[in-house]
Amino acid sequence: MMILKVSDLAVNYGAIKAVKGVSFEINEGEIVSLIGANGAGKTTILKTISGLLKPVEGTISYFGKDLKHKKASHIVAEGISHVPEGRHIFPGMSVKENLQLGAFLQKDRTQVKELFTEVYSQFPILRQREDQDAATLSGGEQQMLAIGRALMSKPKLLLLDEPSMGLAPIFINKIFEIIKAIKNRGTTVLLIEQNAKKALSIADRGYVLATGEIKMEGTGAQLLASPAVQKAYLGG
Ligand code: ATP
Repeated sequence: MMILKVSDLAVNYGAIKAVKGVSFEINEGEIVSLIGANGAGKTTILKTISGLLKPVEGTISYFGKDLKHKKASHIVAEGISHVPEGRHIFPGMSVKENLQLGAFLQKDRTQVKELFTEVYSQFPILRQREDQDAATLSGGEQQMLAIGRALMSKPKLLLLDEPSMGLAPIFINKIFEIIKAIKNRGTTVLLIEQNAKKALSIADRGYVLATGEIKMEGTGAQLLASPAVQKAYLGG
């Protein structure tokens, strides 16, 4: 079943055309990766899906319903959660408080407890550090916290913007393992990455974006094996 369908999407910043007629789709249960160089338009697409930017053209449909005219708060409530580039956790608040914020839509205390149990089972290190200020976590742990916070809203679709950025190699591998585990637990993932090799190796399907347009698409394996992708994005 298709969860998200983006058609002919165009997004501008004033006179700058950042996204120029992009179409792609995500099926339930998939990891779909958008790869592309700095400035290709990846972050702009994610922000438009989550309602932070408004497109000038195109449609976004989620389970067949229009999203383009919805507010960001409505979009989260419908089950789309966005982990932004740079993580944006609250450094002066504890790990637990940061997670609590992710569950702001859930008023039922028992449900919130269950969400904590689930997120802590996925990220045991967050349980260990639940009373520490988020600022005291390492970069990799902060990324886990940002992902954990997004999972606290029980998303059907998780949008991840450059989760491996700025992390030490050992944490990069860990983050990609976590993304696979999230998929295996039934959450669909749209993953944006400059680390094309890692992203495509866990993606069911991928799209290559350059200067605001989709240039190629295929399964993760097809794109990894493509000479054009290797030359442009995999340093081969
Ligand atoms: P990055 O990995 O650097 O985030 P990206 O592929 O996500 O790259 P975007 O951030 O979506 O790319 O940027 C797409 C284009 O839009 C770029 O040309 C960028 O300079 C431009 N752009 C992004 N944000 C703004 C903004 N707030 N105002 C003006 N132009 C912007």
